[in-house]
Amino acid sequence: MDDRTFRTAMGKFATGVTVITTEVNDEPYGMTANAFMSVSVDPKLVLISIDEKARMNNYVRKAGKFAVSILNEDQQDMSAYFAGQMKEHRSVSFDQFNSMPAIPGALVHLTCNVHDSVMAGDHTLYIGEVTDICITDGEPLTFFSGKYKQINGPVGVKGV
Ligand code: FAD
Repeated sequence: MDDRTFRTAMGKFATGVTVITTEVNDEPYGMTANAFMSVSVDPKLVLISIDEKARMNNYVRKAGKFAVSILNEDQQDMSAYFAGQMKEHRSVSFDQFNSMPAIPGALVHLTCNVHDSVMAGDHTLYIGEVTDICITDGEPLTFFSGKYKQINGPVGVKGV
């Protein structure tokens, strides 16, 4: 099986989109990620998967904590920016949530302490123990087959 077949198959799993944030020496950092899942209710654990080559990997390792902002349907631009897909550097005004940087206007903010980490191939899996949550009304940004979708857009309507 080649890499392209694997990537294409995994892309058929529709997901939401998050921006992972953390802070090292009072400097905030953000990175777009869709490898995010809920793991456990008691204790409350979530999981993220970060590429070994991503700068964010070292930042989360150093900080020992991270925040997750689940993006809303109007935040495609924010996703592209924190995936490094835009050439220009922006001055981003982060929200402060539970003393962590977070993306303003996101559907959900979670803050986590790193509970465990496991190297798995070319990624590191971070299991985070959730320390606080903030929920806002709205619809999520979704990602499917390498493209952004809105949950009430044409694909959702077709599937009903
Ligand atoms: P960098 O290239 O260092 O940063 C990304 C961008 O954010 C840069 O433009 C940088 O300037 C900017 N930035 C960061 N912090 C700040 C700040 N404080 N102020 C202003 N700008 C800032 N990769 C994974 O490892 N796991 C995933 O689950 C994953 N999911 C993805 C899902 C989607 C939908 C997309 C589009 C990409 C995904 N990626 C994922 C890829 C990942 O987002 C990129 O490879 C990312 O650029 C690598 O992270 P980095 O830490 O090296 O980022």
